[in-house]
This record gives sequence, C-alpha cells and structure tokens, in this order.
Amino acid sequence: MTLDISITPSASPRTDAEVAEILANPGFGTHFTDHMLLVEWTPEQGWHNARIEAYGPLSLDPATAVLHYAQETFEGMKAYRHEDGSVWTFRPEENAKRMIRSSQRLAFPELPVEDFVQAVDALVDTDRRWVPDNAGEKSLYVRPFMFASEAFLGVRPAQHVTFMVIASPAGAYFKGGVKPVSLWLTEEYTRAGRGGMGAAKTGGNYASSLVAQQEAMAHGCDQVVFLDSQEGKYVEELGGMNMYYVFADGRIVTPATGTILEGITRASVIELAGKMGHQVEERRFSIDEWRTGVESGEIVEIFACGTAAVVTPVGELRSAAGTVPAPASTELTGRIRQSLVDIQYGRAEDSFGWMHRVG
Ligand SMILES: *Cc1c(COP(=O)(O)O)cnc(C)c1O
Repeated sequence: MTLDISITPSASPRTDAEVAEILANPGFGTHFTDHMLLVEWTPEQGWHNARIEAYGPLSLDPATAVLHYAQETFEGMKAYRHEDGSVWTFRPEENAKRMIRSSQRLAFPELPVEDFVQAVDALVDTDRRWVPDNAGEKSLYVRPFMFASEAFLGVRPAQHVTFMVIASPAGAYFKGGVKPVSLWLTEEYTRAGRGGMGAAKTGGNYASSLVAQQEAMAHGCDQVVFLDSQEGKYVEELGGMNMYYVFADGRIVTPATGTILEGITRASVIELAGKMGHQVEERRFSIDEWRTGVESGEIVEIFACGTAAVVTPVGELRSAAGTVPAPASTELTGRIRQSLVDIQYGRAEDSFGWMHRVG
C-alpha cells in the first residue's frame, strides 16, 4: 500500500432501490457507480493526490494534451461476486503490468503494480454494492485509464498525467445464450504496424478500428478481423479480442505476431487448454491456413476471447474473396469458456491462483 487515498463519499449516492433497478438490467458501459478514483503525476511530485470522490464530469482546459495528441492508455477488467457475497477480481496484477508496458510505449510515467491494484481495490470496495450477484454472468466492469492532462499544445510527453478508475455494472455479453460471431475480413485497413502501438492498450488503436468495424457491419457481420500490415497475410486479431484455432488432432493455435494486444484472457486460455491436455502453439497463422483448414475439416473450432465476452465461438468469415463457413463444432470452446467463468465466479477451484479478493 503505497498510495495514500483519501475518500470523500458522494453527497448524493443512488438509493439501494435505484442500484437494484440498474443491476437488474445493466447493459454495458452506460451506468456508472457513485464514485471515481483519481491520482495525479508531475515530474516533481511523482504520483500524488490520490482520492476517491463522487463520480462526475471533469473540467478540462481545451488545450489538454490528450484531446489533441491522444497520449492515453487504458485497461479493462471485471469484479465478480461469489455465492458467499465476497467480491473478487481476476489477475489484476496482469492488468497492472500491461498498463506499465502500454505506459512505456506511450511515454508515460509508470504506475507501480501494487499502486494499480490498490487503486482498483479501493474503488471497487467503496462501490461494492454495485457488484451484481452472480446470476446470469453479470459483473462490475472496471476501467482504469491514464491520460495526458497537461494544458500544453507542444508535442512532447505530458508533464501532468492523470490516472483514473471508473466502474460500470455489466450484464451478460450474450443475452439469449452464447452464439457464434460472424467476421468480416478487412483487406483495406490494418490495426498495427511494425514498431507501432499494436501491443499497447491505447485509445488510438480503437479510433483506427472504427471505420473497419463500420465496413464489417455494412457487410452484415458482427466484428472485423485484421491482417498484418506488411504482407496482408497473417491473422492478427479482432478489434478487441484475440483468436484461437482448434485442430482435429487437439492442437490449438493462437496468432503471435508482435503487433497484437496480448489479452489476459488469451494467456489464461493458453494455460487452461494446456491443463486440459491440449498442445498450444503461439505462431503466425495465415488467412490461407484458415480457409483451407476449415474446408478440409482439419480446423474443427474457432473462437475469440477477451474480458468482455470471455470466450465466444467464431462463425463464418466473409470477405471480398468469398465466405469461409463456420467450423462444425463449438464443443471445446464451450468447455474452455465454462471453466474460465466457473473460476471467475468461484464455482470451481482456482488452481492457478488467479482470483484476488477485494476487501
Ligand atoms: C483488451 C484487448 C484484448 C483482450 O484483452 P483481455 O485482457 O483478454 O481483455 C484484445 N485485443 C485488444 C486490441 C484489446 O484492446
């Protein structure tokens, strides 16, 4: 515990009845808890002025650097309520370490792992009545983020940085049960190049993905899949999820290119699948291997994973060149998904030591 966090309770928190009504149907990203956490950084003072206060709008100078040059990085994680009422997060140190890696790429100061975890714990604990019960895979989505808060239009790393944590109750990603997502292969846009920001969790990567996502939706697909920018040949990932290919012989392949964002769900699936006896290969995976593998029946399942959806089966792949049909099965996808969710909600033994108790 190195941050000295002062807590000023909200003068107008939502009533228990209002919270209950929101938690009955939380949706995603529209309702926010009563509080937010802020920490500031300057070269002279380091991280300071850590505080939890009422959730509300920020007042920013129009010259605030993030609004112009997008020096920003974020994380996404969830808090889960277990049957006994206790509240837990999933591998929060991994989010903390990833934010440090993103910070290094974005020329930010580093927030130490223990400070990150302490900050998330403090906000979740303050707003713990906002963590939904565990019926129907609800959770409290937690969004830590860091931005250039200095009012200065020169181009250089900001000398005033703000780290914040906000939280938003989230309903099940799939309402009517898990169903495969259809994908559009974009041949026009890429999400990351060599030496770029592909491995950092930063808003700019999302800004550049929006037009490709629009293209996907115009073609009647749920999500877009990106290829590498150099050869236009190797699968990278979706806008916010990592990919997995399951072969008939039990092998599983997940793309590794150096320009993907390495998900914590992705890393957890590698460990889980290994424990289930599958050999997992992290390597380049071409779009041709996808096409021919599904056509020959060698690829039996495809899935995508990330904090929001956990694990989701992938259906057909559409592109200008034609459609690759959905693989036949979703059996292993379902089992991996269930194992992960059971650990997160405390219904299965946490043999990897992934869960972190809050409060
Ligand atoms: C956050 C993110 C993921 C998934 O990471 P998780 O830690 O599993 O949630 C995958 N791809 C991109 C581009 C992301 O930003």
